[in-house]
Amino acid sequence: MKHYNIPIFISHFGCPNDCVFCNQKKINGRETDVTTEDIKSIIETYLKTLPKKSKKEVAFFGGTFTGISIKLQEEYLAVVYEYIKKGFVDGIRLSTRPDYINKEIVDMLKKYGVTTVELGVQSLDEQVLIQTHRFYPMEKVYIASRLIKEAGIELGIQLMLGLPGSSDESDFLSAIKTVELKPDIARIYPTLVIKETEMADMFKKGRYIPLSLNEAIKRCKKIYSLLDYNNINIVRVGLQPTEELNDNENVLGGPFHPAFRELVVGEIYYDFLKKINDIEEKLEVETNERNVSKIVGINKINREKLGKNLKIKINNTMKIDAIKVNEKIYSWKQVLRGEIDEPSNNKYQ
Ligand code: SF4
Repeated sequence: MKHYNIPIFISHFGCPNDCVFCNQKKINGRETDVTTEDIKSIIETYLKTLPKKSKKEVAFFGGTFTGISIKLQEEYLAVVYEYIKKGFVDGIRLSTRPDYINKEIVDMLKKYGVTTVELGVQSLDEQVLIQTHRFYPMEKVYIASRLIKEAGIELGIQLMLGLPGSSDESDFLSAIKTVELKPDIARIYPTLVIKETEMADMFKKGRYIPLSLNEAIKRCKKIYSLLDYNNINIVRVGLQPTEELNDNENVLGGPFHPAFRELVVGEIYYDFLKKINDIEEKLEVETNERNVSKIVGINKINREKLGKNLKIKINNTMKIDAIKVNEKIYSWKQVLRGEIDEPSNNKYQ
């Protein structure tokens, strides 16, 4: 069944923190606070257009939901819960900081039908957390994740790549620790320098150098491969290109690309095919047509790099999570791991 989010933006509301990369108002495109009447009106508007037979969740984006007063959290959630009880809405998703989760809060979220909590973890490197002004002990991430999972609520982890103080190794280590937390979903955001943030000042003074697009793709593909290999559903890679972020004036630096995920997945295919090409000197690929654009890459970059050796034949009887190269079938997991030695059997066809 198709899934739809009914998005409600809570602008920086309730968040007393000042993470160096954050300017919520610029990111979510909304500057005003939200009333319960707003919530009702947004839900009603969406319900008029969304198909009846679909999974619908109200998603509180932006800010730090569980950082606002308990009274207001309950008021917001109670509005949505009425729609859940009537069967018009199936659940609630929200995002928050790891240090704003405790047992009482999780019990309250559960009571109102919250189905997913995404933790803005960003990094699991203490030094990076300090340099980005996220002053909480790492332990908080482990405790919050455990409480959410124990309550039977879906756990999401958001990671940022290229934050001040990070390196290839530290970002990858954060991903390894993320796998240990066993989240259901993840989002990966390459760090952008947004206007009117502390990082914007650091950038202007030369105290922060953002990743280039190529560096970000290189860093991200390892992390994407690790998370995907471990069955974590990666729901987003790269920042949502909202209208304001498409306006160059608000992004001062960093690897912004509207199709960042496609660039990353294309690179994963490229690395895998190059390995085979280096040994077998031919690439006769057979694949479901839904994979073709990923294999040839954005602007056909992989086709350009792999040259005339790359020949692609469409075979829609093949599963989407498999690829045949030079008569051997490989699963997507083998592609993710770059395992070219042991092709899988034909269960993928
Ligand atoms: S990133 Fe989250 S916790 Fe940090 S300042 Fe922004 S809203 Fe607050």
